[in-house]
Amino acid sequence: MKDFIPLMSPDIRSSDIKSVNKVLKSGMLVQGKEVVCLENSISKYLNVKHSIAVSSGTAALHLALITLGIGKGDEVIVPAFSYIATANVVEIVGAKPVFVDIDIETFTIETSLIEKVITPKTKAIMPVHEFGLTANMQKIKEIADKNSLYIIEDAACALGAKDNNVFAGAIGEIACFSFHPRKTITCGEGGLITTNNDSIAKKLKQLRNHGIEFINDKMEFVVPGFNYRMTDFQASILNSMFERFDDIISFKAYLSGLYNEKINNPLVKRPTVPKNKIHSWQTYHLLLNDKLHQKKIIDLLNRKGIGSNYGAQCIPEQYYYKKKYNLDVNYLFPNATKAYNFGLAIPLFEKLNEENIDYISNTINNFIKI
Ligand SMILES: *Cc1c(COP(=O)(O)O)cnc(C)c1O
Repeated sequence: MKDFIPLMSPDIRSSDIKSVNKVLKSGMLVQGKEVVCLENSISKYLNVKHSIAVSSGTAALHLALITLGIGKGDEVIVPAFSYIATANVVEIVGAKPVFVDIDIETFTIETSLIEKVITPKTKAIMPVHEFGLTANMQKIKEIADKNSLYIIEDAACALGAKDNNVFAGAIGEIACFSFHPRKTITCGEGGLITTNNDSIAKKLKQLRNHGIEFINDKMEFVVPGFNYRMTDFQASILNSMFERFDDIISFKAYLSGLYNEKINNPLVKRPTVPKNKIHSWQTYHLLLNDKLHQKKIIDLLNRKGIGSNYGAQCIPEQYYYKKKYNLDVNYLFPNATKAYNFGLAIPLFEKLNEENIDYISNTINNFIKI
């Protein structure tokens, strides 16, 4: 039997390990110059003014909401289909996540439904660049401008993705990235926030580090903050990986192109990329025909030595949200429900080769009604 092909496996190279070793030997383990170096590289790459590295993508989203002053009594518009963290952070600051269905072609928020749910309490729209494809940002920007709402990009999956030639992370007031092992580059756990706004950046930096600010060279605790810092050895892995970032993105685009060519089962829908977008291919996500049973397909792939999973959750259908809001998901969020029940993420990472893609594609092409 062939070696099992997991859904994701990070490509940690000896140069990455060397880079971490250097930091470990230096004894400087907490946030330091490696973090600054990462922030500078990402700001330069994305063409944004500020990058603030933090301990996870979820920490990034949490700080973004707090920094914008979003809390009790406020509403934040989020897609019904995303990783649970998108809505959790809104709950955690005491605000209400207002769910909107997705567009089934792109798995991102359906912009034609956004204005229907805006109320005087709405403070922000939090579009998710699901699987590495940007939401319809032009339309979202129009709506946000017209209604004086903040845009918080959940760009956890979208480092390197572009929308009309602008990088994800350079569009909203604030954008949040993740460096979890499922994401394009990883340091285990990590995140990063980008913004072009100086005062937002200043506040984010205070909040990530116990509310510390230097006033006349004296360290003052100016606000109650968190410890959401990234360590220098984590940043050093990312710095090492970021040197080959363009190669990683283009190799994943190449592998996705192979899937697009080779998968041709009429019961399986391949992902679509609208014009004017560059996909970062964090995940290659198929949509199964309703004649295929998602869980049986995942089991079958597993038996064939291929890791797969559903792509993301229909959030209002999850235990906490169901109990609290009791929304009729089939009626309100038919596309999110469909994506949750018929979505299929298949392996996509740098260590795969054409032979792997052939094997996976052939296996998928042999799916029959199940
Ligand atoms: C991964 C992910 C997060 C959370 O990031 P962590 O680094 O795991 O905390 C949030 N939102 C989306 C859309 C994600 O994919």
